[in-house]
Formats: sequence, structure tokens, C-alpha cells
Amino acid sequence: MINVDFHLHTCHSYDCATTLADFSRAVRTAGLDCVAVTDHNTIDGALRLRDSGEIRVIVGQEVGTREGELIGLFLEKVIPAGLSAEESIGRIKDQGGLVCIPHPFGRRRFKAEWEVGHCEDGQVRLSNQVRRASRLLTEEVLERIDMLEAVNSRTRFRGTWDAVGRLAQLYGLPLTAGSDAHTVREIGRSRVEMPDFCNTQSFINSLREGRLTGTPSSIFIHFGSMYARLSKLRC
Ligand SMILES: [Zn+2]
Repeated sequence: MINVDFHLHTCHSYDCATTLADFSRAVRTAGLDCVAVTDHNTIDGALRLRDSGEIRVIVGQEVGTREGELIGLFLEKVIPAGLSAEESIGRIKDQGGLVCIPHPFGRRRFKAEWEVGHCEDGQVRLSNQVRRASRLLTEEVLERIDMLEAVNSRTRFRGTWDAVGRLAQLYGLPLTAGSDAHTVREIGRSRVEMPDFCNTQSFINSLREGRLTGTPSSIFIHFGSMYARLSKLRC
């Protein structure tokens, strides 16, 4: 089994100061076997880290689209910011990459009693609460993506994590966990323990076997004792 943090930033992101050397050190200290480096609108840091050979890296990018943020994984070429979600997904897929929606419901609380959607005549109909959460959350986009980020350490509401799991079940999508670290101390706070993989197809199969864990990060409260687990969701 390997431990993977799926959402990490370096100093190549506009809002992060973590140098690549500090990043590599923190990844090893956190006991992570593999990391997705997902800087905002660039893959330069991810490529440099991968090519350094110091840590195992999935080259990713948090892509700013007109409708919201997507994460592309297993990229070789950068995706320009500001395209439509449809165009961005196409460009990620054209180079053999995979698409994830990070923090699909933003940082807000998604109430347990809210429905995420339902199946009707073999078609999923999303609930109004889901539609209101993000312009990215449409039936068309959800049918084309490969995974959803359920656990994000910067999204503090466990109920929101669970709601992403329910949405993923509707579409048969596997889930990821990522710390969304913008400082070294956050690296590894969320992770997936999963069987090892050797290509994108075996990656998806492994991710379906994965176990997600996460510790919310907060600047207000110390959550040291709070440890949430999301059990594996099979679709
Ligand atoms: Zn991020």
C-alpha cells in the first residue's frame, strides 16, 4: 500500500512560499510515498520535483476555469487558465490526464439533510443545493470527470466531505483526499492509503480501493484530536 496526498502547493503557486527543497523534505517527513503537486495554473514546480527524483510525483495542476477550479493529474503540458470547464477537461484528457474537482462544495457546510441528487430514467438529476454550490457541478461535467475530492483539510465540515461521497456514488466516481497544503506544516494532513499503481487505468482501480483520512486544518482552533475517516465507497 502507498500513502498519497492529492492536493499540494509549492512556491510556484501565487499564494504559497514553500520552496521545492522544503517541500521534498516535508513530504518525506510526513511519510508520504507519492504526492500530486497541484500548483495554481502551472506545472513548472511539479515537473522540477518529478525530474529531481527525490520524491515520487504525480504532475498536476489546479486549473482556473471560467466555471471554477479543476485539478488535472498526470499532465505533461500546462492547461491555460480562463478557458471553459469543457475545454479544460478536453485538454487534460487529450494528453492522457485525469480530471478531479477539488472541494466541489467550496469551503461551506453542506447540510446532512440536503439531497445531492437522484436517478431518474437512468439519468442523474442534481439537487438545487448542489447546483448552487458551484457552476462546475453540472450533469455534463460530472459525467466527464474521473474523480472527486472528498477530503480537503481546508474544508472543515465533515458533513461536506460526506456529501461529496454521496455525489460520487451517484456517478460511480472514486474519491481523493488532499491537504491543499500551502505551508509545509499542512503537508500530509489528508491522504489516501491505496494499492500501488503503474498507469492511469490501474491508478483508478487502486483509488477505488483506497481509504481516505483527513485532519482539518484551521487557523482558529487546534483540531489535533479530531481525526475523521471516510470509508471506501464502492460504486
Ligand atoms: Zn489548492
